Amino acid sequence: MEYAIKEAQIALSKNEIPVGAVIVKNNNIIASSHNRRYIENDPTLHAEICVIRQSCYILSNSRLDDCDLYVTIEPCIMCASVISSARIKRVYYGASQPKYGAYESSGYILNEIKHYHKPEIYSNISEDQCSELIKQYFKLKR
Ligand SMILES: [Zn+2]
Repeated sequence: MEYAIKEAQIALSKNEIPVGAVIVKNNNIIASSHNRRYIENDPTLHAEICVIRQSCYILSNSRLDDCDLYVTIEPCIMCASVISSARIKRVYYGASQPKYGAYESSGYILNEIKHYHKPEIYSNISEDQCSELIKQYFKLKR
């Protein structure tokens, strides 16, 4: 999570929404990234999507079996869908996202979909640090 937080700090320094993500396999970091939505004017470029794409490219595989995702904020529904599609094994996230979060915040909406791959979910990892970055971002925006 430390590396995901570093990515979020890089995003903040670029005036981007400070969300960072890292993919780990067998204790090795495969890829790390941050939100690029405003940097590249693309609403799909959430940190999770960026890091999943990079990892698939690096591993030459569209499935990330036995990979874990660390992300500073609870994934949204779009990202949660891609996380399932990529068959990520475990998701560790920092702060919850009450409005858009796909796991705890939306009542585990993806559990309703049969046959969907369900990663193990671990929440509130370094929660204070992760939510502090988001607060800083919105303070700068006001
Ligand atoms: Zn997302």
